[in-house]
Amino acid sequence: MKAIPADLRKKVQEIKLLLLDVDGVLTDGGIYIDDRGVESKRFDVRDGQGITLLKRAGIKVGVISGRSSGAVRRRAAELGVKLLYQGVRDKSETYERIKTRTGLKDEQIAYMGDDIMDIPILRAVGWAITVPNGWPGVRPVVDYVTEAKGGRGAVREVSELIISAQNQRKLRSPNNNNGSI
Ligand SMILES: [Mg+2]
Repeated sequence: MKAIPADLRKKVQEIKLLLLDVDGVLTDGGIYIDDRGVESKRFDVRDGQGITLLKRAGIKVGVISGRSSGAVRRRAAELGVKLLYQGVRDKSETYERIKTRTGLKDEQIAYMGDDIMDIPILRAVGWAITVPNGWPGVRPVVDYVTEAKGGRGAVREVSELIISAQNQRKLRSPNNNNGSI
């Protein structure tokens, strides 16, 4: 499992919720539209496993998409992602709603986004992440660019970083005597 860069470790140890953009992050940004107008997308199984691992570790996962598709609804249901917001015009407004719904603070939230409409959330969250194949204008506002591309394991990479950073904290905590590790 990947180790977290030392300068990011503290930030990542605070994270309780990972929010994900869909197009370009959970996918490579491609959209398939058939002749009846039905949209489909390609998801990476490794990313799905990353989401499952996070949830098992007690980290919440949410999805925010500017578009709306049945494929995303189905994939979210498969993975047990209940914080699902599609057809979002103003991502900041949705972000505020999620904070109210979860009771979490900016420092406890990470966001992965790849395009201009993601910038307001990326500026607000505790840990801001983008992918190497995203819009380059996002780079200056993020803390971390994944090695894996969007739609090709980027979410898995971030999931492993969060789990690894938080496991390190558990191992070091003097109060950890509940036998959970
Ligand atoms: Mg996107």
